[in-house]
Amino acid sequence: MTKEKKIAIWLTWLLVWPISFYGLYRYWEPSFQNMMADLFSFAILIGIVALFPLVFKEGPIFLIQGVSLAVFLYFGLFIEVLLTQFGVVFLMIKMRISRQDLYRLPLNMLVFLVTSISGASIYYLMGGQHGSEAYQTLYDIIPILAYALTTFVTNQILIKLLGLFLMKRPFQWIDRATLWEIYTTLLILPVGFVLYRLYADMGLAAVYYVGIPFAFISAMMMLYYKSRQLNSYLQKTSEIGHELTGRLKESEVMDLFISRLVKLLPIDFTYIYDVIDQEQLKMTHFYKAQQQQDIRQFFLEKGESISGVVFQQRKAFQYHRRDQWKKQNWEGIPEEGESLITLPVFRNDEIVSVITVVSKEKRAFEKFQYMIVDILSNYLVIAMENAKNYEETKNQSERCPLTNLYNYRYFEEQLEQTFQIQQNLNRPLSVILLDIDHFKSVNDTYGHQSGNEVICTLADWLVEMIGEKGVVARYGGEEFVIMLPNYNVDESFLLAEEVRSKFASKKIILHEHMLGDKEESLVVTASIGVASYPEHCEQPLELVRHADRAMYMGAKQKGRNKVALYQSNKALTE
Ligand code: GH3
Ligand code: MG
Ligand code: MG
Repeated sequence: MTKEKKIAIWLTWLLVWPISFYGLYRYWEPSFQNMMADLFSFAILIGIVALFPLVFKEGPIFLIQGVSLAVFLYFGLFIEVLLTQFGVVFLMIKMRISRQDLYRLPLNMLVFLVTSISGASIYYLMGGQHGSEAYQTLYDIIPILAYALTTFVTNQILIKLLGLFLMKRPFQWIDRATLWEIYTTLLILPVGFVLYRLYADMGLAAVYYVGIPFAFISAMMMLYYKSRQLNSYLQKTSEIGHELTGRLKESEVMDLFISRLVKLLPIDFTYIYDVIDQEQLKMTHFYKAQQQQDIRQFFLEKGESISGVVFQQRKAFQYHRRDQWKKQNWEGIPEEGESLITLPVFRNDEIVSVITVVSKEKRAFEKFQYMIVDILSNYLVIAMENAKNYEETKNQSERCPLTNLYNYRYFEEQLEQTFQIQQNLNRPLSVILLDIDHFKSVNDTYGHQSGNEVICTLADWLVEMIGEKGVVARYGGEEFVIMLPNYNVDESFLLAEEVRSKFASKKIILHEHMLGDKEESLVVTASIGVASYPEHCEQPLELVRHADRAMYMGAKQKGRNKVALYQSNKALTE
């Protein structure tokens, strides 16, 4: 909603409303004599009814229209406009519309003014009367129904047109909100009519006879709506919970949690702190709406800022507007924040995280929405733990525990899959296989433990050199394999040569070994075999076999510290 549109609404109101109101008054000049107590009672009734609006996403549903009908039938248009406008003001106060939304007051006043006037025009056209003459014979029901229908249709069309022009809401003749309006109107209008009849017969007491149960109906409908709303929230929450626990990656769990939470509640900022020790929290996530923000290292002491207070006191807090918490000077909470929910997340009675959600709107969160955040946070912890366990188990089954390289089983799977892909794309695929030279003597000289250290160092070097180019795995004891998609014979030979020369030139430092306390350094060399698809094979595992053969025949046997390309039997024997 632009500022210009808001100003236009206020100007229209200023132009139209006072003149219309004065015009209506001059035309009817109602006498208020002896009517003050009655009008006052009707005003109170409208006030009570306005206290219990049915608030939907689409806007409030006016239960005031029942009372308006009775007032219109008995007292005529001017008094009806007077009381309905009063009701609109009351309703807006009750809904605590924010300053930016204040334009809704003149807008609603105008909508109801036009609605009242158009209903009345039809009523008079059809010969409708007021006072006790409004309903004397069955035929009098016709103008009354016409009045009810006109007010309903005018109101709906105005709301939809305004939605289209002001909020760019798509125009739809009948949507869910309209259906709801029809149901409630069918319920409310007969009560309004009964109110009119009773008032015509018995005077003031009727307002209370009908008014009190009427207010109860409003209140019950509100409760009904609230419980439906709560139900639907709980249902969504449980669906989100299932979704969360179905994810197998920690980052996916977190992203899903935030995106669903932000969709469910009017949240502008989300902060998540994890407990790192008894005294400290560390910020792990910060989202503006759904957008994850970069965070530098940010820590809070116990009791510091709101999350630290939650951590210290082990309890949740909820605020409706900034005034309630701005004196505390909490660091990190944005200036424009108003409503805030913050709560500890427990696991086995220990706080593991503190989650804080902030909205720029006042009173953005209802009490039950705090409960929703709480339930979802619990799902989050479980889902995160699941994902972590899964990742760990997966890691264990795929990797060698000594070097953290992939194990050969995983390598074989990857090789078979990649081979298929490369074959389909007509792209090359190469395998490099390394065996460390004279490794037994490394073990014999420095001890088995140092031998392990050497294997780990070489594994790290390989990962560093290959990076994203391919997959490095441990083939056997001191043997490694590397898969290189998109590397042809020459490229993979060059890369193998780089590896060989790095090994041959770089010293490995041993801090602890069998020879004594002094640091020792050594250089190890490797014999390397290379085989490529499509030149050397037709099947994935042949690549490994042929690289192995090249390593043995072309490098080991020819003096070690060499790189050899696979050659067919014939070529080798020549
Ligand atoms: P070459 O390959 O040059 O012919 O000689 P080599 O001494 O390396 O011989 P080979 O490859 O046949 O033997 C590998 C040796 O590596 C056997 C074993 O003692 C040692 N080894 C294998 N796995 C491990 C391991 O995990 N840790 C340690 N410390 N040694 C291992
Ligand atoms: Mg070996
Ligand atoms: Mg060896």
